[in-house]
Amino acid sequence: MQKKIENKEEFIATLRERARERFPELGGIIDNVKVGFGGETKKAEVAKDEVTKDLGINLDLRYMESKNEKPDEQLFVFMHEVLHIVWDDINARDEKEDPYLWNRACDAVRNHQVAQMLGMPIPSDLVNIPEAKGKKPREVYKELEERQGKKSKVTLPEKGHQHSKI
Ligand SMILES: [Zn+2]
Repeated sequence: MQKKIENKEEFIATLRERARERFPELGGIIDNVKVGFGGETKKAEVAKDEVTKDLGINLDLRYMESKNEKPDEQLFVFMHEVLHIVWDDINARDEKEDPYLWNRACDAVRNHQVAQMLGMPIPSDLVNIPEAKGKKPREVYKELEERQGKKSKVTLPEKGHQHSKI
């Protein structure tokens, strides 16, 4: 049985402290970003406050508990979300761009950055696209889009609506 997170505030405070120790230059955002436990299906996410439009971080409690024996991976997930905010990934998507692919491109790029920052491999349950290393999300997005386009041409019949969305 894995340990539970008994005190959520303490858990978050410790996470901030460890992050700040490693990355003092990001101390402002690490200390001030709103962090909470919300959402049951995701590992973690950046969420925009409807009213203030401020970006905050939602952590999934069960997911973070599942990594209680791997505090480095908890820090990894936290820093991944911090980088999304630092680079404003949520707002940087063009309206024409596919949200799923954009998110995947950002995840792939940020995971390589965090891995480098922390000097550890990308945890096995997170997005890992080797070719994304050192690239910008938009470059990776275009590659993913191209790859997906090629795939659908092969798998869909000629008259299929390859580009239509539901
Ligand atoms: Zn992400």
